[in-house]
Amino acid sequence: MVDTMKAAVFQGEGRLEFEERPIPQIERADHVIVEVGAVGICGTDLHALKVPPGTLSRIPTGVIMGHEIAGRVAEVGEDVLSVKPGDHVLVDQNAPCGMCEMCRRGRPNYCISIRNVPGFPGAPNTYGLFQDGGLAKYVRVRELNVIRIDRSVPIWQAAVAEPIGVGLHGLRKVNVRVGETAVVLGAGPIGLVVTALLKRSGVGQLIVVEPLELRRQAALACGATAVINPKEADTVERVLAETNGTGADIVAEAVGWTLDTCIQVASNGARIILYGESELDDVIPIAPTLIGIKELEIYGVFLAPFVFESARSILESGTLPLDQIVSHRLPLEKVHEGLDALRDGRALKVVIHPNEF
Ligand SMILES: [Zn+2]
Ligand SMILES: [Zn+2]
Repeated sequence: MVDTMKAAVFQGEGRLEFEERPIPQIERADHVIVEVGAVGICGTDLHALKVPPGTLSRIPTGVIMGHEIAGRVAEVGEDVLSVKPGDHVLVDQNAPCGMCEMCRRGRPNYCISIRNVPGFPGAPNTYGLFQDGGLAKYVRVRELNVIRIDRSVPIWQAAVAEPIGVGLHGLRKVNVRVGETAVVLGAGPIGLVVTALLKRSGVGQLIVVEPLELRRQAALACGATAVINPKEADTVERVLAETNGTGADIVAEAVGWTLDTCIQVASNGARIILYGESELDDVIPIAPTLIGIKELEIYGVFLAPFVFESARSILESGTLPLDQIVSHRLPLEKVHEGLDALRDGRALKVVIHPNEF
């Protein structure tokens, strides 16, 4: 008789329900069983739980959700060398396969084991979306998915590693220079992490545009020098007023459909980072001539390749104001409460605790 655990399982049609599932066992020499301490829930979970689901978030029924995972190693397979039972770990839910064409070309974030873009080759196996994840007492991953982190980092903070990684991946594309001006559009969890990272990169003016008061306050706590409510003020006018009429050197889009505003608030020669996600068939109007005459550089961002070690280092340094970004910490039983708070805009980042340690 195998012991069981309570798990939050995707049942299709927007339903996430608790089921008793067998506690996962070591079956391969590179398996690691992680006792889950904390799981971040995010917009991707909301997209997957919509009816119909978002075009990039069509996940199989029967999967245990929870993809932003941190925990403690419970057991390891015989070949595992980098971690041992008792170690605290981050889980990179998208570790590449290492063997497909894109992995071998040095572009592991385009690995077929990660991609889930309809019309492109892919066989995604992301933990918590395409195979069993962390909304349960235990999750089984592979050694290549775990990164050891110092036990001094509170486990709820370790669960923010992936959003930090996404923020880092985008910012590294634009080589932030000390004293530049920056605008962040959208202050959800990614926008807030990016704001905090920009602040610590030494930018000067740091303007955050966000309609929700709760998030604007959090943006100020993360280092914004000014916040704009786009429902009450003209964003472009305000940004120009705050930047001596020149616009921002760096514009981070964390909404999904505000590229045109990015183009308008960008200075000549600015770099724009697109973090926000919308649906595959969404089309938005933009002013292409401005991209040309301002010589704008526009960067897409997908996932968090090669940055988990840096995210670990940042977490261990304790320099990000994560208490301003994580608004809810709930036990597994209250995961629906967390999802509702996210949906209603009452929450910033939500972290679920399947175990307490
Ligand atoms: Zn996520
Ligand atoms: Zn691959």
